[in-house]
Amino acid sequence: MVSKQMALEKLNRQYTAETRSFLEKRYSSFPLEFVYGEGLPDCRLMLVGEAPGREEVRQGRPFVGKAGGILADFLEKVGLNRSDLYITNTIKYRLAREGARPGTLTNRPATAAEIRRSVPFLRQEIEIVKPECVVSLGNVPLSCIQQAFGAEDVPDRTIGLCHGQVLPLIMNQGKTIFVPFYHPASILYNPSLKEVYEQDFDILRSLF
Ligand code: URA
Repeated sequence: MVSKQMALEKLNRQYTAETRSFLEKRYSSFPLEFVYGEGLPDCRLMLVGEAPGREEVRQGRPFVGKAGGILADFLEKVGLNRSDLYITNTIKYRLAREGARPGTLTNRPATAAEIRRSVPFLRQEIEIVKPECVVSLGNVPLSCIQQAFGAEDVPDRTIGLCHGQVLPLIMNQGKTIFVPFYHPASILYNPSLKEVYEQDFDILRSLF
């Protein structure tokens, strides 16, 4: 039987090859470096973010920059350790465009096409890891999971309406639960979300 690790590596190779040809036509001038999921493939909890930022690309690991620091604080508060989880991103390269100063890059939002083409990959990644619970961090993974699993499992609602809700996800083999969260960086832009975020993490604590 193929181990989860081997299945994930194979999926990453396929993602890399297909993404290179997809992006070549659009952003050919940028260096393309991938940041794949990391952690325990046999975990109970899987976190899915949006896309790596500059620091994540530099270190080759998801959630190690500012947003990662915020996430780590919340995880610690509910007694969860990063080493007990599997953490990945919907889009596995930096969403970048040329910055105002020559030679610099700045972040850009994901396009609808980028989210759409991530759908089968993220679905397979979730099916391989088969965690007891999937938490999405932000709008991009929420939208991708809504498209991957369909409206019967995950209603087409915005993050403001469905954060902190415990929803079923029916997989090819077995099922898991899905809890949408705001993105940790949203607290930086909107500090009033901190309390909401704490309440959502309390829901997670009650599940584990
Ligand atoms: N934001 C994300 O969504 N993912 C990361 O890995 C880092 C920041």
